[in-house]
Amino acid sequence: MFVGNGFDIHKHHPERKLFLGGLSFAGDGFIAHSDGDIILHSLLDALLGALGKKDLGYYFPSDISTPKNIKSSEMLKKVLEIIEYEKYSIRNIDITVLSESINISSKRELIEKNIAGLLNIDDSKINLKGKSFDGMGLIGTSVASASFTTILVENA
Ligand SMILES: [Zn+2]
Repeated sequence: MFVGNGFDIHKHHPERKLFLGGLSFAGDGFIAHSDGDIILHSLLDALLGALGKKDLGYYFPSDISTPKNIKSSEMLKKVLEIIEYEKYSIRNIDITVLSESINISSKRELIEKNIAGLLNIDDSKINLKGKSFDGMGLIGTSVASASFTTILVENA
């Protein structure tokens, strides 16, 4: 079995579309070279980490070699190729979103189901949690939001 962890954080911007777990929602999105999907970015780093394949920035640097505003679901497809996903089976994924402005409980089911679809696994293997920051610092004042992911992978 292989365990991996991933983290991502981006600053909010009112003119950016909000993408979370491969879906778009109403609300302020993130400033990023890609679509700024903190959930998928932390998930992909966890997956790469579990299998010893460096990090997301190695494959998708924030420069002209990566298409601007690339969808994170496209990045996910490429990462699955890089790690030879068919050789592995995901045991479970635990995600925590740290945000003052994003209400996770209202989006949980949709996001869990979408990630399950992207990874071709049962949605019972995914748990998405939300955590506010009690008004403290950059996250507590809604300047930024962040996401942590832990993943457990087995040989298929
Ligand atoms: Zn990111």
